[in-house]
Amino acid sequence: MHERTKEKLNLRKLILLLCVFSVVITLLNSFYSIYRVQRELLINNTIESNRVYAEKMAEMTDVFIESGMNQLAYSAKSLSNKMNDSAVLVEEVDRLRTQTNSFNSVVIVNAKGVIVSISPENIRIKGMKLESERSLQSLKAQRPLITDPFISPAGNYLTSLSYPIFSASGEYLGYVGGTIYLEKKNILTALLGKHSYKDGSYLFVVDRHRTLIYHPDKNRVGEVITINQAINAVVEGQYGGRDIVNSQGIDMLAGYAPVKGSNWGVIAQRSKALTLAELDDQMWKVLLESIPIGLLTLLLIWISAFFISKPLWQLASTVKAFDNHALTIEELKAIKPWYFEASHLKQNFLKALNIVSMTIEKLHSESMTDALTGLLNRRGLETALEHFRAHNVPFSMLALDVDHFKKVNDTFGHDAGDELLKEVAQLMKLQARDLDVVCRSGGEEFMIFLANTDLNQAFEVAERVRKSMESHHFSVVNKITISVGVSHWAGEPQTIKSALKEADKALYLAKENGRNRTELGA
Ligand code: GH3
Ligand code: MG
Ligand code: MG
Repeated sequence: MHERTKEKLNLRKLILLLCVFSVVITLLNSFYSIYRVQRELLINNTIESNRVYAEKMAEMTDVFIESGMNQLAYSAKSLSNKMNDSAVLVEEVDRLRTQTNSFNSVVIVNAKGVIVSISPENIRIKGMKLESERSLQSLKAQRPLITDPFISPAGNYLTSLSYPIFSASGEYLGYVGGTIYLEKKNILTALLGKHSYKDGSYLFVVDRHRTLIYHPDKNRVGEVITINQAINAVVEGQYGGRDIVNSQGIDMLAGYAPVKGSNWGVIAQRSKALTLAELDDQMWKVLLESIPIGLLTLLLIWISAFFISKPLWQLASTVKAFDNHALTIEELKAIKPWYFEASHLKQNFLKALNIVSMTIEKLHSESMTDALTGLLNRRGLETALEHFRAHNVPFSMLALDVDHFKKVNDTFGHDAGDELLKEVAQLMKLQARDLDVVCRSGGEEFMIFLANTDLNQAFEVAERVRKSMESHHFSVVNKITISVGVSHWAGEPQTIKSALKEADKALYLAKENGRNRTELGA
């Protein structure tokens, strides 16, 4: 079956679709760009602030170590001739521990590795000889030293700052050492701890062997970390910041700085996911804030689409609906196109209507009219076709033929046949539109030309005429039917003759297919 009434998308919907599509794509694109730029910025800023922070904390730690070492150096010097005076030694370790508050404990160890004095005093290891490899580090070094972490005879996991004691003659007498209990409250926790977990970033310190000597999670102190790139870099003495995966497989934005005097490294880091979660919030804000403008834009698009499509829509619907020529001309004139294309279309429609109406006026002469029916005769038909051809007015044509007309003549006589032809002609004229050209092309055969009408519209007119015949009560004969063939002439270079042939073929097909029906030709 031929598709006749399927509505096509109209211009307004097309403009709306196009604009909404563009707006959505543009918005998505800008959101994505904002997201990328902000993400980059946020990551870089976080790395940079962690780097600066790590550097500051490293400097602070360095200052602490230097001042601790200076205090020990001062004591070592003053003790060089008092190593045998245990009262002085006790006083000195107490002074060192309580005055500065830098160390968890202070010890004096003699050249044989025996702890000769210790503060706080209640630790009952005074007089004990140091034996483990790690606890002998300072003794072996005989120079200022920051030891690697080890477990003290009292069972504390610690690192110690030690300064050698020499006699006036240069003989090695032992050392004075200040300890930092890594797993307890100590100077590092006091210095660094107050800043940890600030907005999810935190700080930790490793020694030169990648051992955690300070971490906000105390359980992790003593852990040796080998796969963290920031730690690798900082133990090599590098400053910097980077995007890393930490030892627990979490993406981190880390800044790092070495502590010069001790070969330790300070790392400040913040989880990347946490940092980017902030971005999600920001993006939601951007989205929410762009909603009003977005809605306003859509409203403007909707209004613009309405005004842009209005003249074309009016032209199209007026021309599509036209049945009455005078009314159509009035309606077309009332349309006020405000841009070039619509204005020209309007002018052209009016021109086309005028050509057709002029043609029809010309045909109203006796020589072109059929005496029996009052329709155009063969000559009128030729003239109409010549006009359409000359002005290149596209048109559709209906070839109509009364079914079984011979029987009418045979049954009711020739005059009754003539009478019927008159009635048929009248009905045709009534059902056709005012600008349609209705002709009697021969005996009981008729043609209707529909200017500026496409095949689908012509089919509708054909069906209207056919149905009106089918349902009409004719005077003598009562009931007759007709068959119709429809074709279209789209203008040069197609010949009108070939279009006529198509209409004839379609009519023949309608007869073949059982009569009382309409068929479409090419
Ligand atoms: P169908 O078209 O359905 O195939 O059958 P039909 O009976 O109409 O077939 P056909 O076209 O062969 O017959 C046309 C008849 O119309 C032949 C002729 O006698 C008759 N006829 C032709 N011109 C006139 C006319 O002016 N007046 C009358 N009364 N009859 C006419
Ligand atoms: Mg016939
Ligand atoms: Mg015939």
